[in-house]
Amino acid sequence: MPLLTPGSINALLREHDVRPSRALGQNFLADGNTARRIVRLARLEPGDDVLEIGPGIGSLTLALRETGVHVRALELDRHLVPVLRAVVGDDPMVDITQGDALEIDLGALLADAPSWRAVSNLPYNVATPVVVRLLEHAPTVTRMLVMVQREVGERMAAAVNSEAYGAMSVKVAYYATAKVVGTVPPTVFMPAPKVESALVALERRSAPSVDVPSVDRMFVLVRAGFAQRRKTLRQALKAVLGDGAADTLTAAGIDPRARAETLGLDEWAALARVEAP
Ligand code: SAM
Repeated sequence: MPLLTPGSINALLREHDVRPSRALGQNFLADGNTARRIVRLARLEPGDDVLEIGPGIGSLTLALRETGVHVRALELDRHLVPVLRAVVGDDPMVDITQGDALEIDLGALLADAPSWRAVSNLPYNVATPVVVRLLEHAPTVTRMLVMVQREVGERMAAAVNSEAYGAMSVKVAYYATAKVVGTVPPTVFMPAPKVESALVALERRSAPSVDVPSVDRMFVLVRAGFAQRRKTLRQALKAVLGDGAADTLTAAGIDPRARAETLGLDEWAALARVEAP
């Protein structure tokens, strides 16, 4: 079956009497070359189990199907599900679930296969929480290729001391390695978004690269540090460490005058260890 084009997308939307919803981040991919490029970058093998979040009307689903993988497509918008069903037909290699990626029980959704890839053109407005949720609650998703707003992708993959480095970069680095592997212009979508997109490849670590008594507590510190990223850590961490912030930082081997963006994951972990009761 040919991949979706601007003409076929228009025809499908008309035929099913649906309009793209801005609130649900519906920008449909209308370029088969980009769909195939995304699938290539995902490095899939025939027979892989692939979770696609937000399949929309199937632009990427059709390209995934060409590679002989099994696709589990999770779409929130119940109006789009019949369109997606019409596009993929009764293909046993594609199963469609209607549900919210931020709410659904991922353990149950992914229970019938031991290992998953996630390949998704994510809705811009919830891309970050969806990726965090997969990292935190779907350990069998071992590799992801996601399309997100460019700035969001850069934050996910940012290295310490770079402008884009922030709390999300530390979160991603705890669970995975991440790399921006491409960019995608607005012109290939219908309707065209106002922003550029990035393709981010994430590879889950076999084990987190640092050992801390409480991961949650480490991220409380990370968030506090970046919430006031222009301030010294001594100042920024006062909110959670009180007047002992400078001493705690020093005990962790960190200069209290340093700023959050200069701390790598190892240093955040050292701080979380000192700070543990
Ligand atoms: N994959 C399709 C494509 O490439 O054309 C559609 C991508 S569109 C950017 C994002 C899709 O995610 C939309 O179909 C939207 O309805 C769906 N979506 C939005 N929020 C969602 C959520 N919380 N859970 C699952 N799907 C969601």
